[in-house]
Amino acid sequence: MDGKKVYTLFSSSDGNCVYFKNGKNEYLIDCGVSARSCEAALNSLGTSLAKIKAVFITHEHTDHIRGLEMLCKHFLLPVYAPAASFKGITACAPHAACFLRPLQPDAAVTLDGATVTPFATPHDSAASCGFCVDLDGVKFGLGTDMGYVTKSAARALGGCRAVIIESNHDIEMLKNGDYPQSVKARILGSRGHLSNDACAAFVPYLAQTGAVSLVLAHLSPRNNTPRAAFAASFSSLTEKGAAVRADFGEGDVRLAVAPACGICEVM
Ligand SMILES: [Zn+2]
Ligand SMILES: [Zn+2]
Repeated sequence: MDGKKVYTLFSSSDGNCVYFKNGKNEYLIDCGVSARSCEAALNSLGTSLAKIKAVFITHEHTDHIRGLEMLCKHFLLPVYAPAASFKGITACAPHAACFLRPLQPDAAVTLDGATVTPFATPHDSAASCGFCVDLDGVKFGLGTDMGYVTKSAARALGGCRAVIIESNHDIEMLKNGDYPQSVKARILGSRGHLSNDACAAFVPYLAQTGAVSLVLAHLSPRNNTPRAAFAASFSSLTEKGAAVRADFGEGDVRLAVAPACGICEVM
């Protein structure tokens, strides 16, 4: 695990960004907050945007690309994204156009210290993906913005040592909330977001296939609470016999909720 680190920097429907490193090779997944906020978060980890070697984008929704325009204005770095998302990305971040490189589902991208394999996720964007990232034999996964857990998502995330997994909303809070009916239907649909219950049903599989760290992510600030997300996955894991901890410990599954704004260690 020497030199291998993964952190969520921002995680919610308002903005997402994940940082990972393997030795001196540093990368981001999504840049859904301002470049300034992203830089401040990286500074608190002792690093900076100038050290980032590439950015991987899950899809073109604003909460995943908000800072991309400024990032591409100031730094020369490849931006990997699903090809079908290019149009939406350049509409929001014109300077990204000459840095974009296409991702194809299940086609690995090998960079210094990291092999990043995207998998398609069912979501209401032109295209969307999650990632399985192999850092010299130590794997972590990210699955957010998905209406349900597909077989390919389960295949990609199973066997990862650490997984950042969406626990977007509490179904009752969403149904009783003040969102318009059309938005509620979109979030609850098969190309929407993973609910606390759907996430909870999936996490025991991740623990059984080798995950020792599970980070619940992309919570809706309006239709969820960290407590509700944690409780759903905690009971599901313990019902299946997993010993769950809220911090890191030998031999247990550690369960955490990524804060909307604030660093969360994934591994
Ligand atoms: Zn999102
Ligand atoms: Zn989205």
